Amino acid sequence: MENLRGSSVNDVKLQNRRLVLCTIVERPMISRGEIAEATGLSKMSMSNIIGELMQAGIVCEPAQARAESASPGRRPAYLDLADASPCEVGVFISRHDVQVAVGDLRTHVFWSRSASYPERMDERTLVGMTLALIREALANCRRPVLGIGIAAIGPVSTQRGTLLQPANFYGIHDVPIVRIVAEETGYPVFFTADSMAGAQGEKLFGEGRAHDNFLFLLLWEGIGCGVVVDGKLHAGEHGLGGELGHTSIRFDGPVCPCGSRGCLELYASTARMAEHVRARVEAGEPSRLKDAQLNWSTILNAAVAGDSAARSAVEEYCDYLSCALVNMVNVFDPEIIYICQYENPKAGELLAALLQERVRARMLAPDCRRMSVRCSTFGSRSVMTGALALVAGKVFDGTLPFMP
Ligand SMILES: [Zn+2]
Repeated sequence: MENLRGSSVNDVKLQNRRLVLCTIVERPMISRGEIAEATGLSKMSMSNIIGELMQAGIVCEPAQARAESASPGRRPAYLDLADASPCEVGVFISRHDVQVAVGDLRTHVFWSRSASYPERMDERTLVGMTLALIREALANCRRPVLGIGIAAIGPVSTQRGTLLQPANFYGIHDVPIVRIVAEETGYPVFFTADSMAGAQGEKLFGEGRAHDNFLFLLLWEGIGCGVVVDGKLHAGEHGLGGELGHTSIRFDGPVCPCGSRGCLELYASTARMAEHVRARVEAGEPSRLKDAQLNWSTILNAAVAGDSAARSAVEEYCDYLSCALVNMVNVFDPEIIYICQYENPKAGELLAALLQERVRARMLAPDCRRMSVRCSTFGSRSVMTGALALVAGKVFDGTLPFMP
């Protein structure tokens, strides 16, 4: 009984400490009064907690705020994350490069590096490049590191901590990346697919904070879809969720590298968009893309600039994509679909408008729901923000201790 009571008092203490930290993370330069109001803690316990957080070097009263608050009539001293507060390492294993960043608990990045893949790639090279960048990040970091968050192109198994077999990815398969990084560094490692990481970043730090049911669509050379249900990331039983690109939109369509038929990615793809533009140019339609290289960026940018052949290719892409999105909307009933597309914001707005129009036209019971398609809060930084948020989220939910 004594032990039980002892541990539960300790639990409450840890929980309150976490509550105060989360409030400071969420609201930079916050006063003690505002923290008390937001947390509902008594002045006494809040004061103790802030004292502990300051002593541990996690929270500080920035010098300028202290000077201001000393003058009569000024607002009371503000608190903020200290310059030496703990940080996290984020890793993004993308289709073309590996990116590593170090950020604070707000996922503000203060160090980052990336390395493009060489032409000849294999598992050893991928692991070697990733570890080299992580080592460099750790060597450059003067702050306590809480853990490492890894986002990778799918499919991934978060249950096994393994990068499975991404389509068209140098034949690389079944890389136990979590075990490798954890053994090499000794830090806790958290892992998910890139689209799921994007959803996590949106939920914890983006506009998605205000929404409990949304989809996070990652578009580029593949199509991934992070899912947030009732305020929580939903990666599934085995952590295999989010592979929207491999949902079939044609049961007897061509065979996909994943083994299924008629997968969305075979239709909503850069290759198809390029073919579409080429056919229209060959038919005599004037286009700024006539002699240009045709890829995701050039086609989207031309569409934004009003090129009719490019615009028509993007519309066809959205026709296919919206077909799968309507299924997602009918199953998950999200309020918002966020789009991240690594391109200029105008391209995001174009895709959002085209998709919203198409999904709304076909979804079930349009009069009974609000559903909009918008650009993600962090744009091209979405996945890295999410990789860092994988660690921050574990601090916020109490899984990962942030002070001794
Ligand atoms: Zn497939």
